[in-house]
Amino acid sequence: MNRPITVLGAGIVGISCAFELRRRGFRVTLVDRRGPGEETSAGNAGIFSYGSITPLADPALWSRLHRLLLNRDADFLLHYPHLPSLLPWLLRFLLRCRRQTYFDDGIALGVLVRASIELHKQWMAPAGLQTLLNRDGVLQLYRKRQSFEAGRLQRELLQRCGIKHTDLSAEQIYELEPDLNRVFTRSLLIDESMSLRNPEKLCKAYARCFVEAGGQLIRDEVRALRPADGGWELVTAQATRAVEKLVVCLGAWTPGLIGELGYANPLAIERGYHTLVAPAPGNKLSGPVFDADAGYVMVPMEMGLRVSTGTNLTQREARPDTRQIKRVLPRLHQAFPVDRLLLDAPWMGRRPTVPDSLPIIGPAPRHENLWLAFAHSHLGLTLGPISAVLIANFIGGERQPFSPAAYSPARYL
Ligand SMILES: Cc1cc2nc3c(=O)[nH]c(=O)nc-3n(C[C@H](O)[C@H](O)[C@H](O)COP(=O)(O)OP(=O)(O)OC[C@H]3O[C@@H](n4cnc5c(N)ncnc54)[C@H](O)[C@@H]3O)c2cc1C
Repeated sequence: MNRPITVLGAGIVGISCAFELRRRGFRVTLVDRRGPGEETSAGNAGIFSYGSITPLADPALWSRLHRLLLNRDADFLLHYPHLPSLLPWLLRFLLRCRRQTYFDDGIALGVLVRASIELHKQWMAPAGLQTLLNRDGVLQLYRKRQSFEAGRLQRELLQRCGIKHTDLSAEQIYELEPDLNRVFTRSLLIDESMSLRNPEKLCKAYARCFVEAGGQLIRDEVRALRPADGGWELVTAQATRAVEKLVVCLGAWTPGLIGELGYANPLAIERGYHTLVAPAPGNKLSGPVFDADAGYVMVPMEMGLRVSTGTNLTQREARPDTRQIKRVLPRLHQAFPVDRLLLDAPWMGRRPTVPDSLPIIGPAPRHENLWLAFAHSHLGLTLGPISAVLIANFIGGERQPFSPAAYSPARYL
């Protein structure tokens, strides 16, 4: 039997790591202060899209920088009181808003996304999770011709990565989604992509597979990590445990713990919100749509239509700011017949992001027996399984399916 491993964080990334390591025969304990998949991994848009490979650092941002700085657009909101602490991250981010880095980062993301969606398919089938899926494909919708044309670089990236996509005319949009209001003129359909009707259920199902395979799930709050005798001392709310190998997958909370080991915080936190709406009687949506001009994504879920917002750049524990949800709701009413809101207050999640939009996956640069998988930004639900395979290969000393250099912790830590 292989040596025991403790995985911290039971979001999709930690659950996937624990499951993959257990499948390979390691003795694995997964620790979280909440139930599996109940934090960021619960409230996201549930999309696994081959086309979700556009880095945030897009050269097109330069032409709308004034609008972004004035908080004019619904897809981006900068919380000015936190600007001084965000400034170093923002400067590194802006330096990446160049054509070459856009393609380099996008291609590196594409490698992960493609591999991970294939793994999800393999993991979902035996767990009977296909019933959670909407129709295939993600519709990117445009109200204005100029907005469609502004997406040229994204289409070039999709082309370069060989990702199947189809330009749809207005008639074709309404053939696919007849209940959308006639406000859209063009669309890009990312074919074959998938979306879930309940992302939290997927997380809980993978966690159940892990436990049924012999993994141990512990509910406890981690307070500190200390190097001890070549392994680690794990201080939690309930106990101090000696553990040998650690994989840290604490999402937005990772820097708090590894900071004590001397690793500077590389993250900006992009808040994102969702609300739920009920369609007006007789109307339905069969799959996810991204209303590009209005800055929201709408996905049919078991509990209603989930409407998610873009980036709110702020600090991790800042108070909720519901301005983006308030801005998108009138635009949503233009696009789709909505009956009523189903949530009293929006759900709020945190997307931990580094300037190149790529996750941090691999061995900690200056510590033995410590591996990191975090900073999954807008794509953690998609990238859980491939993050797990890379981590398991590192730990087991096995050959990687592709070079993991682009995701190395050493680039920011
Ligand atoms: C609005 C929104 C929409 C999104 N849409 C999509 C999408 O469509 N597709 C996609 O792929 N991704 C999407 N994402 C991103 C995705 O949700 C995240 O990247 C993903 O959930 C991150 O998973 P994680 O496991 O890294 O972190 P989390 O899910 O945040 O898990 C971290 C875990 O660590 C635990 N934890 C933290 N501190 C401690 C501690 N001290 N002790 C014990 N446990 C602790 C937490 O309880 C939590 O369970 C979206 C995100 C948002 C906010």
